[in-house]
Amino acid sequence: MSTEGKVLLVTGGSRGIGAAICRLAAKAGYRVAINYASNDKAAHALVAEIKAAGGEAIAIKGDVGSEADVVAMFRAVDAAYGRLDALVNNAGVVDVKARVDEMNAARLERMMRINVIGSMLCAREAVKRMSSLHGGKGGAIVNVSSAASSLGSPGEYVDYAASKGAIDTFTIGLAREVATENIRVNAVRPGIIDTEIHASGGQPDRIAAIRGIVPMKREGKAEEVARAVLWLLSDEASYSTGSILNVSGGR
Ligand code: NAP
Repeated sequence: MSTEGKVLLVTGGSRGIGAAICRLAAKAGYRVAINYASNDKAAHALVAEIKAAGGEAIAIKGDVGSEADVVAMFRAVDAAYGRLDALVNNAGVVDVKARVDEMNAARLERMMRINVIGSMLCAREAVKRMSSLHGGKGGAIVNVSSAASSLGSPGEYVDYAASKGAIDTFTIGLAREVATENIRVNAVRPGIIDTEIHASGGQPDRIAAIRGIVPMKREGKAEEVARAVLWLLSDEASYSTGSILNVSGGR
């Protein structure tokens, strides 16, 4: 498995699951482009941590829900490294707990713009660079979905669950579209993972409240998701495309 010198872009890579992916990838020899939305401190601290450990990383600020930001982000990767071998579409948001009959269009538009359109725009830019059809050398894409896509998240955030359902379908369709162009596209479906996303959705105690419904009776660690992502990106997964891997403790 040769990852040395390969370039990986991780959207939402500065905190939570994305940060765990960046740490593991840097250890494996990838040069890592870490995208984030607004928290400069977290992004720059992670770059410093990776460099201190002998790895290579840059931070790129940008909203994946903005087409201009996405285009600028990929150009920044081109300028820094001159190649792109792998993309992890990890940036994603939840919103406060609500029923569908309480959701307004602004909430729905934000959810779909960041979680769905953002991932599709980033995949577009990656395919333009990786596809043999465009003169590229191939690559791998992993989309971060959620167990919510199969559970539906009733009474909590059906909109979020539906955005991840779109990611599952996008994964299958894009995988088949580029299967002969030397690009593999897969997804992971994390279950309840210990990150700050629950607090940012207004539910800081969510993990403690629902870990009992997980068959393994515990939440997952960001690193446990990262290991699955790194495997799907690697040559070890050379015959896997269009796959969606549950990383959810049996849920
Ligand atoms: P998190 O801890 O809240 O971290 C979110 C990361 O995404 C941060 O780096 C944040 O940047 C960045 N981000 C947010 N909005 C962005 C945008 N519009 N453009 C670019 N970057 C953006 O989240 P997480 O729990 O690690 O979740 C990561 C992914 O896993 C998401 O797609 C989520 O849906 C999925 N997931 C999580 C769980 C879970 O239980 N944690 C379960 C299933 C699926 P800033 O630091 O600048 O804000």
